[in-house]
Amino acid sequence: MRIVVLAGGIGGARFLRGLKAAAPDAEITVIGNTGDDIHLFGLKVCPDLDTVMYTLGGGIHEEQGWGRADESFTVKEELAAYGVGPEWFGLGDRDFATHIVRTQMIDAGYPLSAVTEALCARWRPGVRLIPMSDDRVETHVVIDTPEEGRKAVHFQEYWVRLHASVPAQAILPVGAETAKPAPGVLQAIGEADLVLFPPSNPVVSIGTILAVPGIRAAIAEAGVPVVGLSPIIGGAPVRGMADKVLAAVGVESTAAAVAAHYGSGLLDGWLVDTSDAAAVAEVEAAGIRCRAVPLLMTDVEAAAAMAREALELAEEVR
Ligand code: GDP
Ligand code: CA
Repeated sequence: MRIVVLAGGIGGARFLRGLKAAAPDAEITVIGNTGDDIHLFGLKVCPDLDTVMYTLGGGIHEEQGWGRADESFTVKEELAAYGVGPEWFGLGDRDFATHIVRTQMIDAGYPLSAVTEALCARWRPGVRLIPMSDDRVETHVVIDTPEEGRKAVHFQEYWVRLHASVPAQAILPVGAETAKPAPGVLQAIGEADLVLFPPSNPVVSIGTILAVPGIRAAIAEAGVPVVGLSPIIGGAPVRGMADKVLAAVGVESTAAAVAAHYGSGLLDGWLVDTSDAAAVAEVEAAGIRCRAVPLLMTDVEAAAAMAREALELAEEVR
């Protein structure tokens, strides 16, 4: 069975770990979000690709959900001693090595997809991880505050420095409209037996991947089941501030509203948490098969159970 998964960072990675356990024989291709990518200290940092790679490769900081286990911050401290920031972005010493290797390869002319493959040769994530595009796409967020005025900031600045504490007026995937899907992306979708949307951020993770011209159409036209899992439980994101970016695109923070945002043209099946069972009828009325099951990824087994439910729902709508 060939499965394509569109993934952001933590939500995508934890679900993928469950999917691997639930479908050990499946050939899994992950199309990773690169809209969060940022250049810091002359280095190219790809937070979502690295979260997937470290999580599936056994190098993730478990509690935190991002960055490396057993991390130290000597380089960051030394940079700070020179007054060189940004101080708000946590880059550890081990993590720095990944970004140095990546940047060195990119400077030598390799596309990001080839670099990602090379990094994965070390981590052996057990999936094929492809960035959505080799072209630069950067999510910017328009804010308007008395202190800072109206301006666009990099997504990481909005998320990490500002903790999404001010309203987002608009979300702009800068560069997406001219980006091309990375080599292998459209082919993987075309050859897939099913496509899964993990409980990743619908706007700045999956939404950004779908904004790369060709990807949404390829999924809609693949003629295979497309099943998603809600990142929203009981009217709020499980982790993070997804409600802020949903509001910016005019979508309510409910499991049903997120399903409707993807739409029945794209989604065939949708899983909501048992606490949102009341939403099932609304989602089904919108033409999307829906079931309520436990959706909290408390451990790998819980994530695997979610993956099994998604696979079952896919067979039901096939
Ligand atoms: P990011 O790039 O690190 O923000 O990660 P993703 O975009 O892949 O996932 C973020 C989303 O995962 C957030 O909107 C959370 O609500 C969701 N999420 C995190 N943990 C869980 C969980 O255990 N269950 C569900 N259903 N969603 C989760
Ligand atoms: Ca992300």
